[in-house]
Amino acid sequence: MNIRIGSTTARTMARRSLSVAVERRKAIAILVTAAFLAVARPGCAAAAPAASGAIDAVGAENEYADVIAQIGGRFVRVTAIETDPNTDPHDFEVSPKVAAEIAGALLVVKNGLGYDSWADKMIAAAPKADRKVIDVQHLLALPDSTPNPHLWYDPRTMPAVAKAVAEALSLLNPAEALYFQSNLRKFDASLKAWSAAIAAFKTKYAGTPVAVTEPVADDMLQAAGCDILTPFSLQAAIMNGNDPSPQDVTLQNGLLTGRRVRVFVYNQQVTDTLTQSFLSLARKNGVPVVGVYETMPIPGYDYQSWMLAEVTALRNAVADRISTETLQPKH
Ligand SMILES: [Zn+2]
Repeated sequence: MNIRIGSTTARTMARRSLSVAVERRKAIAILVTAAFLAVARPGCAAAAPAASGAIDAVGAENEYADVIAQIGGRFVRVTAIETDPNTDPHDFEVSPKVAAEIAGALLVVKNGLGYDSWADKMIAAAPKADRKVIDVQHLLALPDSTPNPHLWYDPRTMPAVAKAVAEALSLLNPAEALYFQSNLRKFDASLKAWSAAIAAFKTKYAGTPVAVTEPVADDMLQAAGCDILTPFSLQAAIMNGNDPSPQDVTLQNGLLTGRRVRVFVYNQQVTDTLTQSFLSLARKNGVPVVGVYETMPIPGYDYQSWMLAEVTALRNAVADRISTETLQPKH
């Protein structure tokens, strides 16, 4: 049974066509109220207060909000809409509060590829002449047919997003353009630890066979040279809450029972009895598990440290057979 908290109106507004199937199959508490936590700069230190006249900005997902905050610093006031690592973002349900946040924003960054189509409706419903909208799918010129919507796991994505954010903020506040450019350079430099970890993994472990549940981290696994043996049809079924084919399930079970993969990458946010049965099989057969997330785990992580933690967990699984099923919040 599904537990939902939120107004009927909000539910009706955002119901995706797939969510009927999702509701039937998944037992995930959608704590909508938990999703409206504003983030300034996630991290251990308290964020600097926004300057007066700061630009109101929204990241549809908290990883994009984090990048806006890093580029905009004290000249932005950022709200993240999807922030709860205990819920399934594919099931996200909006509320009037989200509509108000978007209506008031001068900068919105959203993923696209249907992942956050609720945001499109709200942007269209509250037009604002000066508002800049960065749709990451369009920024990267990806067709609607792109099968995997989790663009933030691709190492090429966030440098492009950060650059677009700096450009948008410079148009909205030209007096601080140099400040935004300086933050952009810092952001790009701070991504190097992650890209170096990916490159080091690829050099040593290219071709590593892996199994996954849902495709959230596939772009990163591919950048690291992993060979994903789980059929995409199974991954897509799990992502969309559809029933997978029995052949796919048998194949996946065989990957784990036959230890034909060296790591099992488990999406902690898109789970059901089937994914849990795969997890049990991995544990039972001694296949190291790496837990991955759709939403940036907070407190303590920023986008860069989160991504680095995922590659480190992958390396520990393959090199040392150590499981990291969950990323612990850092303090
Ligand atoms: Zn997903």
